[in-house]
Amino acid sequence: MKTGPKTQQMCERAKRTIPLGVNSNFRYWGDDQTFVIKRGEGAYIWDLDGNRFIDYRLAWGPVILGHAHPGVVKRVSDVLKDGNLFAMSNEIEIRVAEKICAMTGMDMVRLTNTGTEATMHAIRIARAYTGRDKILKFEGHYHGFHDYTLFNCQPPIPGIGYRRSPVLVPHGSGSPRILNQLVECVPFNDFELLEKVVRDNWQNLACIILEPIMGNSPGLFPKKGYLELIRKLCNEFGIVMILDEVKTGFRVAKGGAQALFGVKGDLVTYAKALGNGFPIAAIAGCRKIMADIDYQKIPHGGTYSGNAVSVAAAEVVLDELEAGALDKVHAHGKKLMEGLREILNRKGFPALVQGSPGMFGIVFTELPRIFEYREWAASDHHIYSRVLLKMMEKGVMPDKDSREPWFSSASHSDVEAGLALQAFEDALTEVMNEA
Ligand code: PMP
Repeated sequence: MKTGPKTQQMCERAKRTIPLGVNSNFRYWGDDQTFVIKRGEGAYIWDLDGNRFIDYRLAWGPVILGHAHPGVVKRVSDVLKDGNLFAMSNEIEIRVAEKICAMTGMDMVRLTNTGTEATMHAIRIARAYTGRDKILKFEGHYHGFHDYTLFNCQPPIPGIGYRRSPVLVPHGSGSPRILNQLVECVPFNDFELLEKVVRDNWQNLACIILEPIMGNSPGLFPKKGYLELIRKLCNEFGIVMILDEVKTGFRVAKGGAQALFGVKGDLVTYAKALGNGFPIAAIAGCRKIMADIDYQKIPHGGTYSGNAVSVAAAEVVLDELEAGALDKVHAHGKKLMEGLREILNRKGFPALVQGSPGMFGIVFTELPRIFEYREWAASDHHIYSRVLLKMMEKGVMPDKDSREPWFSSASHSDVEAGLALQAFEDALTEVMNEA
């Protein structure tokens, strides 16, 4: 969908001082398709030209209570009057740490600001704890923009080779080539290959890091027993299991994917839904490892971690989720998933609606279920983008990148679900008629 004149003018201006006019490459959708947002409220956002959209991107997941949530706004404004940052402890961050541990069942937590920082710290902690350097990750899993894991996040097919002997592909230039000696990467949900790579490399493996539900190839689930196999291998070989719950945490269940699947990591990273849009992240873990974070053993630091505004937002989020907000998020997501499946069935269009009601994706494929990046990569992204662009023209905005799940918030009601499903059906019909 093409943006309006005010938005395009502002994008032109932005490009003079900001590369591509955006502060994250993923936000650039083309000169006449890149949005500048004026404001958000509840389930809706408005662009500079006054176009209104039902927002299912929710800033790639964080805004779980809805935009400008009154409780968050009030609490953050109140807290700000007393100053934001002291680089010393405040009471709110201590309460937030206690709430995170209570909700997730982890023993201890250190706060930081972004998902990238959380996974970077978690990997360093795992390396320090084990005295080993290598990490094992999975194809299509994304853990942020530090160099340690920027391999095979969204790799080209067939560039990553035969699945039995995958080739490492860096995300782009700038990551030191030498780092690929520290990464093993396998397709997700392959039991045999995982076991082989771990048995061949365990002496050097500090951690296995994974997205328990693939939130960057939309909503692919672990096969039954797969997380348990990772847990077992980590126990057997003294490897740290890092669950990257940056997208799933406080969203797929109050206790995240750990609660959903009944498997616990040694370290778990949280970010997005924790702050409803304010920059806060957490590295949580078992006491045995986390208690070694100190001057002599495991380093960790950060000027902005625990800043008052972010922890105040997080405290409201956690209280609201405890009080039932997550039930609303899931009820809405369930309605959408069922509605989308019904439309696709009725139209006889082969596709999967896969994931958790908190974050799910649509994959245009003939397969009955998909479990790994390679299968997702073989699906029809072109059709997905065409349908999504038409939905945007109708005022409904999931991300047009088919890797991004649809996210719902506690502010989305049945009215928005009805509008979204109608927009999807109309967009799909138009695309089918064009074919
Ligand atoms: N881990 C996962 C699973 C993510 O999805 C993301 C971001 N989409 C990150 C880490 C990085 O988070 P951030 O963008 O806050 O650095």
